[in-house]
Amino acid sequence: MNSDKATKKCKVHTQIAYTYIKKETDLKRVGKLKRDGGWLPFENHQETWHLQQMEFPSYKLNDCPCR
Ligand SMILES: [Zn+2]
Repeated sequence: MNSDKATKKCKVHTQIAYTYIKKETDLKRVGKLKRDGGWLPFENHQETWHLQQMEFPSYKLNDCPCR
């Protein structure tokens, strides 16, 4: 899942896409949240919903077309 604080959106990608397109920047990290958000890995789809409810209740959670 890519959580983006600038746009207040969370996007859920497939594992393959996650591995392929995730990238660390100064403001975004893989596996951990930084100022602008982060790429977070998940076991299953339910887990992404749970985290979104807990951590980013005001964010929109969307599935990427790659799913
Ligand atoms: Zn995707």
